[in-house]
Amino acid sequence: MDENIRKLKELVDGSDNIVFFGGAGVSTESGIPDFRSVDGLYHQKFRYPPETMLSHTFFERHTGEFFDFYRAKMLALDAQPNAAHRKLEGKLKAVITQNIDGLHQKAGSREVLELHGSVLRNHCTRCGKAYGVERIVSSAGVPRCSCGGVIKPDVVLYEEPLDEDVMARALHYIRQADVLLIGGTSLVVYPAAGLITYYRGHKLAVVNKGGAGPAQAAVTVDGPIGQVLEQL
Ligand code: NAD
Repeated sequence: MDENIRKLKELVDGSDNIVFFGGAGVSTESGIPDFRSVDGLYHQKFRYPPETMLSHTFFERHTGEFFDFYRAKMLALDAQPNAAHRKLEGKLKAVITQNIDGLHQKAGSREVLELHGSVLRNHCTRCGKAYGVERIVSSAGVPRCSCGGVIKPDVVLYEEPLDEDVMARALHYIRQADVLLIGGTSLVVYPAAGLITYYRGHKLAVVNKGGAGPAQAAVTVDGPIGQVLEQL
């Protein structure tokens, strides 16, 4: 076993208060592209950059085009949890994720804090009625509520604030954590990435392809997170 993976295993085996903080890289092994890898969404060519198309302004002004992009690129409803999601189920106090794909819950994790919401939940912007994702998939063009209002995914778009309650709970878990395990995230999307600065312990572990992560990490593993966690 690789020396860094052995160190990671030691940290994980020796703690009953582990909190996970993850991002899009956790789901690439389930076939969902991330944003910033070479084959990620940011390296594909669109009429507008993805951060423009996933902004609140774009949703308001080009609603039809927003949904064309959203249906084609943001929904991966057939994707299944991979070894990372499965391995993280059970042993953790909480999973704090920037992902919007619902795969941690599909793998059985209970305490999942979705900083950026979920594609599985949607609501009418006029009357607030809740809708499942089928409504988005089965409609063409702009999905409409029975009241005529536009249905919007409960996904935090660029320019939109994060849910205060979810942020507060995430902060609580990070502050109390013995081991903070960070995986599959470039840590460049704020304010989500800023949460990890509230960790007070000395057992910070990182699993990222490319090995990027905070300098103060006790252990950094450069590798695909599903394959790495499967070895623990
Ligand atoms: P990102 O694309 O900026 O970074 C992903 C990071 O994970 C990169 O450092 C990459 O090298 C690494 N990575 C890729 N595959 C990996 C693997 N198998 N194992 C370990 N590391 C791997 O993603 P981010 O930091 O989460 O920020 C992007 C934003 O994109 C988030 O806000 C999130 O909401 C959104 N997003 C979500 C999904 C999803 O729900 N699955 C998919 C794409 C984007």
